[in-house]
Amino acid sequence: MAYKVTLIPGDGIGPEVAAAAQACLDATGVSFEWEILEAGEGAIAKHGSPLPEPLLESIRRNKVALKGPITTPIGTGIRSVNVGMRHALDLYACVRPCRLYPGVPAHYRQVDLVIVRENSEDLYAGIEYDDGTPEVKELIAWVKSHGGKTIRPDAAVSLKPISASASERVIRFAFEYALKNRRKKVTAVHKANIMKFSDGLFLEVFRRVAQQYAGKLEAEDRLVDNMCMQLVQRPESFDVLVLPNLYGDILSDLCAGLIGGLGVAPGANIGDQIALFEPVHGSAPRYQGQNKVNPTATILSGMLMLRHLGEVEAADRLEQAVSVVLREGKSVTYDLKPRGDNSVVGTRQMTEAIIDKLQGHSRESGNPSGRSSLSRG
Ligand code: NAD
Repeated sequence: MAYKVTLIPGDGIGPEVAAAAQACLDATGVSFEWEILEAGEGAIAKHGSPLPEPLLESIRRNKVALKGPITTPIGTGIRSVNVGMRHALDLYACVRPCRLYPGVPAHYRQVDLVIVRENSEDLYAGIEYDDGTPEVKELIAWVKSHGGKTIRPDAAVSLKPISASASERVIRFAFEYALKNRRKKVTAVHKANIMKFSDGLFLEVFRRVAQQYAGKLEAEDRLVDNMCMQLVQRPESFDVLVLPNLYGDILSDLCAGLIGGLGVAPGANIGDQIALFEPVHGSAPRYQGQNKVNPTATILSGMLMLRHLGEVEAADRLEQAVSVVLREGKSVTYDLKPRGDNSVVGTRQMTEAIIDKLQGHSRESGNPSGRSSLSRG
């Protein structure tokens, strides 16, 4: 029986990288029935909404989705479709493995860490009050009368809610992920010395949950600014990081930089029922339709999806095929070659090279169809 998966091509370079991942996943031999639905700019034109209900229904039904990036216009008042989707589906943990594959140009020899980012609250909760509105005036007056702090009258205000319950479920997820994936240490990242209540609560919950894993996993915490420096200086010291939403977003891009850039950084958004896989990178609109960008991040997101589905052998084969293409460095996109190197290939050619390796591996292992030998019941 085929796995039913919702496929959201997305905006900008999204359709190109999503097609690349779809082709690689099909080439593993695992059967998929793809339900292709639009979100973002394409969906506005068709459905009048960037996040139409039939899309959410499809994901709720299939419980698994693969997504290309979606454009969020800056400063227009339109909320991010990505954030909206994570909220609507309660995908509370954003998991971003950052592994440096041999052959990828980078400043380090070894990086293999995993970011677990809280996805539902913090400054990304979308509770914002624009400057000059009656609401913000009321809020400014309320703050003044409850503690005497002055907010300038021409300010816009965003709220940063951090709850014990949302912190606990993501922190527990990070510890369970660490155990399941034979990791050794979980590091909480925060700024509790300044934000004593919000980040302070996150840290307090982390310390409480960590006690329940004592003897099984090491636990430590770092201030976010110090963490940035330590990640740049010695990323090999870290294993699983758990962070509130905003720090998680920023450190995800920092860590993508440690492993060769956004072109190779995969991700997943996980809830109790549903999992949605997508690259860390955005829609890079200036590269749209040029057969230029690196498909690896989305293909590796597909590899994470295979693992989530229990197709471990197919996931291993796909990861191995990607890893060989990266190590050989012949059929790779512009971002993995020195500037001015004219041996770069396009998105489609890199995808074909990965599929060739996958099929070569299947031939060598006597499985010419490429079909996974695992039963899916
Ligand atoms: P971006 O990730 O789209 O691009 C930044 C730069 O990274 C690009 O100019 C390019 O140099 C490089 N890059 C990105 N993907 C690459 C790839 N696959 N191969 C090679 N190089 C790659 O970030 P941005 O320009 O800040 O954002 C563009 C749009 O994407 C915005 O509307 C933003 O809101 C949206 N976005 C969406 C998501 C998502 O859908 N999850 C995530 C981040 C940003």
